[in-house]
Amino acid sequence: MNGKKIIKLTESDLLRIVKRVINESQLLVEEVSATTNRCWYYKQIAAQNYYNDKRVPNPFEGAGGVQDFLIVLGWDITKDWDFGNETAKALAFWKYGKNSGIDTVNKLWIQLKKDGYNVGETTGYGSKMKEAVATMILKTCEEISKTCKVDSQTRFDMDYKSSPKEDVGVKQVLIPNALNGSFKYAISYWRKYLKNPKVQQKIWDNMSFFDFLSNFTLSNLMDKYFNALNNIEKKGWVVKNSEGITMYINGDCPKYTVCVNINYYFSVFKDYNIKKVEAKSEDTFVHEIQHILWDQVQKLNSTISIEQAFPSSYDYYGSEGEGQKIKNLSLSEKIPEETKKELKSKGIDSDRLKEYFRHPQYTDGYNCDWNEKLSNLAGYRSYLTDKGTIKIGADIPLQVISATINDMISTTTKKVPLDFTRMIACWVLGGMKPKLSVFVNELNDLAQKEIKPEDKDYNNTSQIDSYNVT
Ligand SMILES: [Zn+2]
Repeated sequence: MNGKKIIKLTESDLLRIVKRVINESQLLVEEVSATTNRCWYYKQIAAQNYYNDKRVPNPFEGAGGVQDFLIVLGWDITKDWDFGNETAKALAFWKYGKNSGIDTVNKLWIQLKKDGYNVGETTGYGSKMKEAVATMILKTCEEISKTCKVDSQTRFDMDYKSSPKEDVGVKQVLIPNALNGSFKYAISYWRKYLKNPKVQQKIWDNMSFFDFLSNFTLSNLMDKYFNALNNIEKKGWVVKNSEGITMYINGDCPKYTVCVNINYYFSVFKDYNIKKVEAKSEDTFVHEIQHILWDQVQKLNSTISIEQAFPSSYDYYGSEGEGQKIKNLSLSEKIPEETKKELKSKGIDSDRLKEYFRHPQYTDGYNCDWNEKLSNLAGYRSYLTDKGTIKIGADIPLQVISATINDMISTTTKKVPLDFTRMIACWVLGGMKPKLSVFVNELNDLAQKEIKPEDKDYNNTSQIDSYNVT
């Protein structure tokens, strides 16, 4: 048996080791947290939210507040309300970098004085220094928060932190369940829609020559659509909380998958109720699935037939399209007389309609993208079907479109679906050509035709649901 070599450590040796360990772990945590949630805190502090949000550390509170701040940034220090050298060192590391050489309160005091802060006459953490440290933290956070970005996971986590228990339940159970239901609805909507022989015929008729060459038979083509739908159903939807987006595909979203911003649907729930979450997400899923079908199979219509309905539409995401504004703006051209006349007969003020779309969010070329228009149409059709206004795959009546345009531009706050607004935007900005009735006919010609259902009860939604189920 070998005798163990015993090393006696003095207190200062121990302290040195402990300090080295702390230093290394600080560096480690620094690296990890730099990419996670720091920016969220910087922005909150810059907005001085520490007065009303208990998640946000308040550096003006004194040593404990500064220590809270360092701890949320990932520093491995204890909160002891004592502004000692360790706290000063960590803070200096954060502010001036690891090579600043500042490892005592006094050195920090000197540096802050040099930086022009009012640190008082004597070194140490007195009342002036306390104020100076807090001001330095606030100013630095203001500076960094101008350029740093909060990632979506952090925003999600922070929302959880602030949420009462019942809100967490809503986000974890109620909303995912509602979205699951909406997703199922959208899949079944597309199956029913594509099963419809009249719709199939229309897709076949509207195919481009190239599409025809690669498919030969209608059943070949339809098999591809149904296989794609099976894939989409299998993949389902995933949570990706991207600011300003409700749902999307492509980018960091896996193939055949719809990415969903659950925070957005949570805010819909807060503003309205779970029914509204269901209604909104149903049509958006229908919209997104159109994009996947377009990308993975082929467009449901040739670009020639899309251009017949939307003469100003183009391939916005194509090589030269992105960033372009819509060409042929109604804002620069006169509205054709026959359009004006027809709109007037429907009680629509054409100048007001034109004004409505003056906002840059509508003049952006995105509003006239081919693919987007088909998704807008699909989403809007799903909305009308769900409301019982039309049967699945049936024509949209002209009076429905004109009445909705009137709702859209009316001064009362009547809400119309965004898919509708974006669909009309391309027509209006394209110079309102052809006139509305022709436009609506062309829209209806896009992969759907009047279907004469066997049963007479048009308004019974349960029969709409059971129509052509596979
Ligand atoms: Zn879209």
